[in-house]
Amino acid sequence: MAQLRNHSISRRNFLTTVSATAGLSSHLSRAADPVSPDAKALIAITFDLEMAAGYPVKGKPRHTYSWDYEKGNLNKETKQYTVEACRQVKAKGGVLHSFLVGQVLEHPSVDWIREIIDEGHPVGNHTYDHVNVMATKLSELQHRFRRAPWLLTDKTLAQAIRENIRLCEVAMQQRLAIKPLGLRTPYAFGQGLDNRLDLQEMILELGYTWVSSKYKGPSGVKTKDPTEADFAAFVATHQNHQPYIYPTGLIEIPFSPPMDVGAFRSRGWNLDEFLQLLERSVLWAIENRLTYDFGVHPSIMYVEDPEFKAVNLICDLVNAAGQDAKIVGLDKFAERAKLPGKNEKQD
Ligand SMILES: [Zn+2]
Repeated sequence: MAQLRNHSISRRNFLTTVSATAGLSSHLSRAADPVSPDAKALIAITFDLEMAAGYPVKGKPRHTYSWDYEKGNLNKETKQYTVEACRQVKAKGGVLHSFLVGQVLEHPSVDWIREIIDEGHPVGNHTYDHVNVMATKLSELQHRFRRAPWLLTDKTLAQAIRENIRLCEVAMQQRLAIKPLGLRTPYAFGQGLDNRLDLQEMILELGYTWVSSKYKGPSGVKTKDPTEADFAAFVATHQNHQPYIYPTGLIEIPFSPPMDVGAFRSRGWNLDEFLQLLERSVLWAIENRLTYDFGVHPSIMYVEDPEFKAVNLICDLVNAAGQDAKIVGLDKFAERAKLPGKNEKQD
C-alpha cells in the first residue's frame, strides 16, 4: 500500500523520483501562479489523535483533567469520532490523515485504528508521549517526565526526543504493522524548525522526508464575535503556510490557521464562526490552486462539532470545485513542495 511504499524509499530515491516525474508534470510547477488553469488546489483534513486540555467538558478548568500527563489515553468518544469522520470523508471521495500519539497503542483494542488504515486513511507519527521537540531541558519535554524524570535517566535531551519519535514508530510497526506516514511535531512553532538544523537532520536520519511543525496565526484578532476583518486576517496567513524545503532538504508542511484550540478554547468562537472562516480558507486555496492543511483534534471536535459539519463542508467545497481541487494526504503536499522552483525558502 502507498503508506508503506512511500516510507520505505530512501531520501535519495525520493528526490530522484520527484525530480524525474517533475519533468513530466511541469504544469504543476505553475501552482504558485494564481489560477493556473490545470493545477489543482490540494486540501488536507488532518486529525491529531490525542486528548486536549480543557475538554471534553467546557468551562471545567484544564488542570482538573489528567490529559497533559496522558495525551494518548483517548476516550471512546474521540475514537468513535475519528472513525466516523473517516467514513464520512471517504464517502465523499477524500482521505483523512491522522497523527497518532504512540501511547494510544497501549490500549487493549486498536481495532478502530485498523479500520481507518484498512479504509486507506494515512496515519503518521505524533511522538510516543507528545513531547515538545523544542524543549531546552528534559523536564520541559512533557508533563509526564516532570513527574517521573527517572523514565529518561541517562538520556541527553536529543536522545530523549529521538527515542520518543522512534518509539511511536516501533509501536505502530508492532501493533498495527504499518510505518507512519510522516511526522507532525506536538505543539506548533511560529518559525517551524527554521533555526534548528539539528532537529532537521535528526528527523531526516530517522527516515522522514517531511515534517509538519509550523503554525503562526494572525495577531490582534478578537476573541469573541469575529468580524469580516478578523476572518480576512486569518486568510491572509495562508500564503505563509505553503509547503517549503529547509536547507537540509527536509520538507516542512505547515498546518493552516485556524486550529480548533485557538478558535474554540482560546478565542471562545462558536461552531458557526469557525465554519465561516473554514469556508473562506478552503475557497482561498481553491481560487489560488494552493494548499490548505486543516488540522484539528477529534477530542475537541466531538464536543464542538458533533455533526461533522467541518469535514463535510471541506468535502463539499472541494467536490464543488471539480477538477480544480482534491483532498489528499500530506505526502502529496510534500511532492508539490519538491517541484522545481516551488516554495524554496530563501534565507
Ligand atoms: Zn498534539
